[in-house]
Amino acid sequence: MASKVFFTDFRTATGFSLLKKLKKLIVAAGIDTLPCEGRFTAVKLHFGEPGNMAFLRPNYVDVIVRELQKLGGIVFLTDSNTLYSGGRSNAVNHIDSAMRNGFNPISVSAPVIIADGLDGTDYVKMPVAGGEYCRTAKIGSAIAKADVIVSVTHFKGHEMAGFGGTLKNLGMGAASRAGKMKLHADSKPVIDTANCTGCGKCEHSCSHDAVHVGTDRKAHIDPEKCVGCGQCIAVCQKGGAVSAQDSDSKNMNCKIAEYTKAILDGKPNFHVSFIMDVSPECDCWGSNDAALVPNVGMAASFDPVALDQACADLVMQAPVIPDTMYTDRHDASEKERCRHGHNCRGEHDIFYYVHPDTDWKSALIHGEKIGLGTMEYELVRI
Ligand code: SF4
Ligand code: SF4
Repeated sequence: MASKVFFTDFRTATGFSLLKKLKKLIVAAGIDTLPCEGRFTAVKLHFGEPGNMAFLRPNYVDVIVRELQKLGGIVFLTDSNTLYSGGRSNAVNHIDSAMRNGFNPISVSAPVIIADGLDGTDYVKMPVAGGEYCRTAKIGSAIAKADVIVSVTHFKGHEMAGFGGTLKNLGMGAASRAGKMKLHADSKPVIDTANCTGCGKCEHSCSHDAVHVGTDRKAHIDPEKCVGCGQCIAVCQKGGAVSAQDSDSKNMNCKIAEYTKAILDGKPNFHVSFIMDVSPECDCWGSNDAALVPNVGMAASFDPVALDQACADLVMQAPVIPDTMYTDRHDASEKERCRHGHNCRGEHDIFYYVHPDTDWKSALIHGEKIGLGTMEYELVRI
């Protein structure tokens, strides 16, 4: 049976702000039915790496927080520490980055709690019912122990997963550092020597001293040191650092779906996605390339799989903005064919053309298979 996904675009009438539109959307979608009274209510989001300007504005998050507080929820904002160095790899820097990006008491009426603690080691092993890739998921304690889960997601592209939506926000984002290692384990990159120019960008960006440019002017990855974080793939502009093979992205996406299932099983949950500033890569980087499509709108659902599918479809239906990573890469890959056999790569598959080594739809297919949700949806326009 199809799940309902509620959607509103970014058109407004004078005097009726986007914040009011958001409130109307989440109420129509049923947020007020969440049993929050007196319960720990985790709002899982990405605070944005310092320097990145595509992350969600806190003003939107505050609308959702206030609605949950009206329901009596003990509401907190949360995310887990990152695997790589940067502004969010420990709780001190992470909270500082969140505050600087506006997730502070002035802008949002809920505190920030880093889910996996000071150094990313505070996690709970949660069972994965029906898991094929993971029996347990190592989830940041504050999210694992929360009674109600609400995800708030900036929907965009992603260099390893293909796209970053609700499943990515929860399954990867809520994982502790040990959990993230597990998720990335099969997605270590390789160097395509035909494309590598020896520029050294990957070497400078690797936090694990795992990639070096040799005397042959080609990058070389040490598999013993590499944790598969994907940072070298993100910084390489030449197609030199690439995913090892298609199945790696698929494996990671399937594990992300399983981690998401572990988090949500048995708990009331609700999900909101913002299809805006659709950058080609994750908000984890301290920069963001131009958006691939114009801002599309906001969507909400109780079904995370349906929500991601609907958001992906809405992105595919949007016109491409000229002079973006999509147009950079489209000519080079337009003769490639679908290699996964599930017909996800039409002429206008933005995620495929931007990140041809990824298999974005695998997360949704596997999510549906393990009972996380359904890819069938009814779009209800508000
Ligand atoms: S893999 Fe990419 S970033 Fe690394 S040296 Fe080669 S071209 Fe430069
Ligand atoms: S080599 Fe690349 S994927 Fe491996 S740890 Fe370094 S940046 Fe991450």
